[in-house]
Formats: sequence, structure tokens, C-alpha cells
Amino acid sequence: MVDNDVNLMALGEAEQGGAETPLLCIKIASGIGAGLVTAGGDVYRGADGAAGDIGHTRAVSGGNVLCVCGSVGCVGAIASHRAVLRGLGIPESTDDDPLHGTRVLAQRVAEAWAGPRGARRGRRRPSVRPPGPGKSGTPPPRRTGRRG
Ligand SMILES: [Zn+2]
Repeated sequence: MVDNDVNLMALGEAEQGGAETPLLCIKIASGIGAGLVTAGGDVYRGADGAAGDIGHTRAVSGGNVLCVCGSVGCVGAIASHRAVLRGLGIPESTDDDPLHGTRVLAQRVAEAWAGPRGARRGRRRPSVRPPGPGKSGTPPPRRTGRRG
């Protein structure tokens, strides 16, 4: 099977992951895209085949950031992994490390998550918390099986 990566991710979640359909799967990477799976288990492509191209939706406060599509203010141009790196002034890659930006961003998130010194002793709460179960009591995402 050959298809767009996020369409295949959505199909995988629907068919193998036990996710309930209809299903919307959003991928945030160098751009932002979505895979949509209908209640019948098919990828929904829309009239022009671009139903999942949500990264090129104009953001309300998108400003004048130029997108690879040529428009300005697209969601992907301001909120993708690449856009976040650009906004923080972190190079996406270097001559020795093609994943430089990813590594630096992961380190910064880990540092923010750990919080300032003393946070582990419970004096201060970290400013960033992971999703899912934990001290916040937030339950994990609900997953239900699809019959058929
Ligand atoms: Zn665009």
C-alpha cells in the first residue's frame, strides 16, 4: 500500500490500534497534516484529495509568515516542528547532526519538565507536564475497539 504517511498512521490506528472511527489523526513534524478515517474504515480524501492538508489552513493570527505553499499564515508555517525551531532560533540541522534541532528541542523540553533546581524535592512544580495519567489525575486518551 502506498499513501501519505499520516493517512497510513490513521489507518493503522483504526485497524490495528483499536481506535474508534470516524477518526482524525494529526501529525506535527516538518509540516502539519491529518489523516481522516471514516466510520466505514476508509481514508477520507475530500473532493480534491486534500482533506487532510490542514497545515495549509490560515491561522487566525497567522501573520505574514510565508509557507512552503506560497501563502502566508498557514498553521504549518507557524506551528510545525520546523516553525517552532525557527521561532526559537535553533538550526534544524548542522553539518554533523541532521537531527540537531530535534535533539536541542527535546533537551529544552526535558529541562523545562524537570523544572528549576529543587523541583524534584517538591518545592516548585515543573512548568511543563506530560499528558496522560499522573499526579494531575488526567486520564489517558480513551481507546475503544471498532467492530468489524
Ligand atoms: Zn501553506
